[in-house]
Amino acid sequence: MRRILILGGTGEARQLAGRLVARADLAVTLSLAGRTVSPAAQAVPVRIGGFGGAAGLAEYLSVESIDALIDATHPYAATISANAARAAKLRTTPLLALRRAPWIPVTGDHWIDVADVQNAVEALANPPRLVFLAIGRQELAPFADAPQHHYLVRSVDPVDPPLAVPHADYVTGRGPFDEAHDRTLLREHRIEIVVAKNSGGTATYGKIAAARALGLPVILLQRPALPQVAAVETAQDAVAWLDQLRD
Ligand code: NAP
Repeated sequence: MRRILILGGTGEARQLAGRLVARADLAVTLSLAGRTVSPAAQAVPVRIGGFGGAAGLAEYLSVESIDALIDATHPYAATISANAARAAKLRTTPLLALRRAPWIPVTGDHWIDVADVQNAVEALANPPRLVFLAIGRQELAPFADAPQHHYLVRSVDPVDPPLAVPHADYVTGRGPFDEAHDRTLLREHRIEIVVAKNSGGTATYGKIAAARALGLPVILLQRPALPQVAAVETAQDAVAWLDQLRD
């Protein structure tokens, strides 16, 4: 039986685990960073918490006799992806990245691409605006440098401590969020501009489509540089890779 480690925290990792759970030839473990208070249920056994950098992950691969590693983390989780590449190299463990393709702008989209969160804050500029922040809750602090805006923040878990600005509302929820849902949300809060990551996939595309429908600009954080490793875009292709590896 081959032992597989999936680095997760995404819907794709969850889907892949669901596809592999019934396989008698595979023993699959899914790893989560432990960021969310109540993680979504998974079809396979889960381990939670960091490994202690690339060396710690390499040690885990060795101790657990992992035969193949699948990095199905979020495209903005650059540190764990770099660690996965280093650890796999150290242990000569086959590695596959399962990464969603980025969204591509279509007619009607008004995207402002920025390098990082600090640049997103600067791009908001003046005058004060009603801003929808949909970048998760880990990287919100820099928006305290632009307290003139009124923020609506969406995250899976509550933002604690709250953003250090005078005007912020919070909405919690785990996707998927469709266009109709997000159009209503943006309208209700009279949002004027959206700040988002180019996550790809369908689960969080609703806000992009809603912004287009309402004629709102979207400040889009560019994806971080990720290691050059073998990569696929779907859980189905990841299963095919595992089968090829066996053959
Ligand atoms: P990150 O900056 O790349 O990773 C920071 C550290 O967290 C890593 O060095 C590692 O600690 C630990 N870690 C991250 N993912 C892990 C995993 N799947 N299993 C075990 N340890 C993990 O990651 P992040 O951006 O904070 O994201 C954390 C998790 O949330 C990821 O699993 C990712 O898939 C998910 N997520 C992230 C985003 C996002 O926008 N960044 C969005 C949705 C979901 P050690 O060095 O100690 O091993």
